[in-house]
Amino acid sequence: MRFDIITLFPELIAPYLEHGVNRRATSAAGVQVRFWNPRDFAEGAYRRVDDRPFGGGPGMVMLAEPLARCLQAIREERAEPPPQAAPLLFFSPVGQVLSHALVARQAGAPAGAILLCGRYEGVDQRFIDAHVDQQISLGDFVLSGGEVAAAVFLDAVLRLQPAVLHDAQSHAQDSFNPAISGLLDCPHYTRPEVWQGRSVPAVLTSGDHARIARWRRQQSLALTARQRPELLQQARQQGWLDRADERYLAESPPAENPGQTG
Ligand code: SAH
Repeated sequence: MRFDIITLFPELIAPYLEHGVNRRATSAAGVQVRFWNPRDFAEGAYRRVDDRPFGGGPGMVMLAEPLARCLQAIREERAEPPPQAAPLLFFSPVGQVLSHALVARQAGAPAGAILLCGRYEGVDQRFIDAHVDQQISLGDFVLSGGEVAAAVFLDAVLRLQPAVLHDAQSHAQDSFNPAISGLLDCPHYTRPEVWQGRSVPAVLTSGDHARIARWRRQQSLALTARQRPELLQQARQQGWLDRADERYLAESPPAENPGQTG
């Protein structure tokens, strides 16, 4: 799997990929990441990559031409016939908001993707219209550049690669995963058993695995009902809740969840 990242600031993303789970993905799990700087494809002594917006207004806009040349070089190096061509994803506030479903789909795409990070006011719309396959947003706020978004996206995709996490199944237990019905994850505790007067829930030290699993499921249900009721609705629509889940939800009002806000 290969990711090509088009960015004016590769140094913002590269270090993030050199640690922990991301490093395992890019060193051991056969994920290749290449950086491409549009400045290397720009013309003139100043290697200009941006210009003032037509129609006036503040800020600068990334030029289409250096991006098009950069993209062409990537496509040539990848040499993929059209049906297998990796999609060009552009990080932008106007895009579809990033979700587990989007991440999971990308994680299962062997061709990987080409990621475009915007800067300034964004990218000349004509380049987007001509070449971008999908626009992806991190949420309803504005960043100064797409680099953070690309790092977020890659991190989420890489941790779903087989052999990247020490326990290959552990991501299936994470929030939003269909394996836990798309619910929120349960709370976690570790040593010591009592910390600053707060005890670990007794069930977790009971050694009764069935009871522990039931408790965790119920915590997930209660937390999701309280924090993200729409995820519970989705789980119902998907047929992911069983009768024990429904009985629990009907019988108990959403539980107190220390440390949660909202
Ligand atoms: N003028 C644009 C914002 C440009 S911010 C607007 O108002 O919509 C500069 C770059 O940062 C964008 O091109 C994009 O690549 C990145 N960016 C900013 N906010 C983002 C977000 N919420 N999600 C993903 N990328 C974002």
